[in-house]
Amino acid sequence: MITISKEYVVDILKGGQEPAAYCESGDTAVFETKDCYDDDDITEENPYGNHPDGLENPATGPLYVQGAEPGDVLKVEIGKIRLRGYGIMRTSVTDGAFHYLYQEKTARRFYFETNPDTGREGFWFDEKLWLDCDTMIGVIGTAAEGDGVLTITPGVHGGNMDCNRITEGSVLYLPVHVPGALLSMGDLHARMGDGEVMICGLETGGTVEVRVTVLKGGEPAEAGVLWEALPLLVSGKQVMTIQSAESLDEAAAMAAQKMQRLTAKLTRLDDVNSGMLMSLLGNLVICQIVNPLKTVRCEFPLDVLAAYGGQLP
Ligand code: CA
Ligand code: CA
Repeated sequence: MITISKEYVVDILKGGQEPAAYCESGDTAVFETKDCYDDDDITEENPYGNHPDGLENPATGPLYVQGAEPGDVLKVEIGKIRLRGYGIMRTSVTDGAFHYLYQEKTARRFYFETNPDTGREGFWFDEKLWLDCDTMIGVIGTAAEGDGVLTITPGVHGGNMDCNRITEGSVLYLPVHVPGALLSMGDLHARMGDGEVMICGLETGGTVEVRVTVLKGGEPAEAGVLWEALPLLVSGKQVMTIQSAESLDEAAAMAAQKMQRLTAKLTRLDDVNSGMLMSLLGNLVICQIVNPLKTVRCEFPLDVLAAYGGQLP
C-alpha cells in the first residue's frame, strides 16, 4: 500500500508540483495529514501560534495517478479515516459569524476517547455534554487550472470545500486538469456543523485511505456526463453538487443548476420535468461561510436517479 507522509505538504493545488508518490488507476493510497494549523502550532497556552509564516491549511500530496489526462475525471472512494488523539478549535477576531464577540483569540483542545456505552469515538465538550466524532475531510482536490488555487480556497478542482459529507464511505468525483491529476488532501475535522459558522471545525490530523480510479473523458465516455457537475459527491443515499462562489446566492444557484443538468442527462427527463423534480426533492445546504469563496451543496436522492435507470460511473 502506498502511504504519503505528512512531510509532503503543499499550500497550493496546481500543476507542475513534484509528486509525493505515484500510483496506478484502481490503487489504494493512505494520506497522513497535518491539522490546518500546520500541526500543533496552535495550543491552548499559545492561541496565536509560534510560526505566523507557517502553512495555512496544508494538504498532503500530491499523488500522481498514472494515465490521468486533462478532461478525465478522478473517482476518489474514501475509506477508513483514523484520527490522532485530539483536536483543537480557535476563535477569530476578524472572520466568521461571531468575530465581533471576541477581543482576543482563544483555543481549546479536546481529547478523543471511546464512549463505553456506544463504542463510538468522541469527546466531552464539558462535564455535561458528550459529542460523537463525525469525521470529515475539509480540503481535498486535484491540481487546479492555470496558476493553481491556494489550499484555503475551494473551487471546481475541490480544495477547501469544508463539506461535512466528505467522509468515510463517500465517493468524490474531481476534474483532472493536469497529467496525473495530482490529488492532495488535509484539514480533517473530527466534526463540524453545516456552515462552519465560528471559523473552524474541530481541527485535527490523522490518516485517510482512498482508492483512486481514472474515468476517461469525453462524450459519450463515462466522464463526459459528469464533467460539468464537478466536484460531485455521493454520500449516504444522496448525490451532491458542491459549488463555491463569492456569495451564497451565486453558489446556491450554481449547485442547483448543475444538479438539474446532471439529473436531466442521467434520467433523460426534459428540463421542465427535471426542474420540477429538483424543486420537489433537491435540497440546498450551506457547507461553509468562512472561506474566501462560500460553498453550497445541492443534494438529490440516488434512488430517484435509479428509478429512471440513471447511474453514476
Ligand atoms: Ca477548511
Ligand atoms: Ca479546518
